[in-house]
This record gives sequence, C-alpha cells and structure tokens, in this order.
Amino acid sequence: MTDTYEIVVEPIQTSKLASTDFDNLTFGKSFTDHMLECTWKDGKWQRPVIKPYGPIMMEPSAKVFHYGQAIFEGMKAFKDATGEVFLFRPEDNCKRFNESAKRLAMPEVPREIFVEGLKQLVNLDKDWVRYGEGLSLYLRPFMIASENGVAAAPSTEYKFMIVMSPAFAYYKGDVRVIIASDFSRAADGGVGYAKAAGNYAASFYPNNLALKEGYQQIIWTDAATHNYIEEAGTMNIFVRIGDKLLTAPSNDRILNGVTRRSVMQLAKDKGITIEERRISVQEIIDAANNDELMEIFGSGTAAVIVPIKGFKHKEFVHELPVLENSYASQIKEHLKDIQYNRVEDPHGWRVQI
Ligand SMILES: *Cc1c(COP(=O)(O)O)cnc(C)c1O
Repeated sequence: MTDTYEIVVEPIQTSKLASTDFDNLTFGKSFTDHMLECTWKDGKWQRPVIKPYGPIMMEPSAKVFHYGQAIFEGMKAFKDATGEVFLFRPEDNCKRFNESAKRLAMPEVPREIFVEGLKQLVNLDKDWVRYGEGLSLYLRPFMIASENGVAAAPSTEYKFMIVMSPAFAYYKGDVRVIIASDFSRAADGGVGYAKAAGNYAASFYPNNLALKEGYQQIIWTDAATHNYIEEAGTMNIFVRIGDKLLTAPSNDRILNGVTRRSVMQLAKDKGITIEERRISVQEIIDAANNDELMEIFGSGTAAVIVPIKGFKHKEFVHELPVLENSYASQIKEHLKDIQYNRVEDPHGWRVQI
C-alpha cells in the first residue's frame, strides 16, 4: 500500500460568501463553502474528498450514536495585514488527534490527510478568513464511527471530516468559577487527556448547575480527592501567586492544550518563573487570604486566554484584584501578535498556507 493521498476536489457552484453577514456571526453557526471528508474502511483510509459543505447520510444504527466513538480538534487560521494566511502549530493538533484516536480505539489519521487536508481546504476557502482584530477561521477536524450495527464493539468504518467556521473575538462578560468539590470531568486511567466528545457531554450538567448559581465555569479538581485543581472548564488553568505562574501538570486527566504549551513558553521567554506542578485548592485559598493571589486564567484556542474574576469553593468566595499589565494580558497580546504575523515567530509556530 502506498501512503500518498491525493485529495479530490469537488468545488461548489455558487459561494455562500456574499450572503454571509460577517458583522453578525454567532460563534460556530456559519460554515464555509467546503468541507473535507475521508472514509476509513477495509482497514485503510480511502481517498480524501473536498466537497461542498452539507449534510451527510448515516444510518440510525451507526455506532457513533450508540457508543460515542467521536473525537475532535479545535484550531484556527489567521490572516495578516498583507492577506497571507497561517495555521498555528497544526502538527501539534495532528499529533494530539491521533493520541485521542488511539485511546478511543479508532484508526490514526495520516498527517498527509490531516495537515495537508487542512492546508488545501483553508486555501480553497481563504476568502472566509478575515483580517482584523480577533478575526479568524475556526477549524474543526473530527472523526466518528460510521459502521452500522448496535453490537458493542469498535466500529470497522470511520469518517474523518474537517469543517470550518468564521470566528471573531467575542467578549463573554466576566467569568467567575466554582471549584468542583464533588463532580469530576475525568478519572485516572480514563479519557480526560483525549479530545473525546463524551468528555464534553459529561461536563454540561455540572456546568448548568454552576450557571444557575451565577458562575460561568467550573474549575475541575482531581477525581480522587478534589483537593487539586486541574482545568478551567474546557480550558487549561494558570494561577499567579505573587510573581510566580503555576499550571497543573499534564497527566491522563488533563487535556494538554496547544495554547497551554504556548503560554508556558512565552512566559519563560519573558523571564516569568513558571512551575508545572500540582496546585492545591488550599494553596489558592491561603494565597487569596494573604493577598498573594494575583491572577487565575484559562487558556484554549477559542478565546486564547480568559481571565477569571472570582471563584467560589464550598463556602469560600473570593474576588481577584484588577491588575494593570497582568501576565494574562501580556501573554495574550504576544500570542496574538505571533498568530497574526505582527512579530517574529522564534519558535516556528506559524505555518503559512
Ligand atoms: C481543547 C481543550 C483545551 C485547550 O486546548 P488547546 O489546544 O489550547 O485549544 C483544554 N481543555 C480541554 C478539556 C479541551 O478540550
């Protein structure tokens, strides 16, 4: 078997671009003209096809609907002032996608399909990437089990697809969080480190309860003791105590974010002391009581960095100080400057289309 995957392109007849209102976009609701689809069957990947975005046909017995073999990635394409388009660290997403695939007993997607497919698709729809503060194209590669039949076993057929949605910087208002003391997002030996669709399903109910109490997100803690913080909703978490920046170590319960690793590197570049280690809830509460708790923020592709204004843990409620020139804002600006090709990219993160 030769592993070259020539992508077939079936272009659209008429673009939806002219009828898309870029000033009134709802995040993740509009999609570009094309999508990529590639089927895995008979033990191998078939020819990838780029075709018009639209519905796919599946039988109700398809395994994804019953046993949840579904994984995804989230990444973005950016346009610079001269109209060049860039991906941000796409090889990292490809690698993580295949780690997720392995854990969910799904076939790995060759990088020639994942990365080259992304490049071709973005290139074809590059007029959908707008230049401007906070504007980008959100890219959503995903894979589902498409074999028919409700026998509980891994599927023998899969669909790998990429869809793309124009995105803008949205301000979601102030974010306050509850530190989890009973619900968990992930367990030891489980799938927390994988970008599995089911991890999100399991987080919606506890998050709804938090919303009812007036908190937007949950800080997930370790399932065994609930004494150590692990993630901020669907983002990785950073805590600044004094001048030190802390982040939870990556383990099998934590999704190791591309943004997380970028934030850690940029913090290091700026000479900020950064420690990757377990952070106890008690340490945060003690720092809050001693006026040493400076910042808490989440990191992820969608919003880059989200500062957290306040938190609640059991009966303890605390508001964070409002800082000028916070680590969060410094690092966020630097990261965005790299993504939009406004500054040097010393770590080689930008990939030009
Ligand atoms: C996707 C995700 C993140 C952030 O990962 P990035 O690669 O930075 O976008 C963090 N936590 C969870 C649970 C996620 O699903």
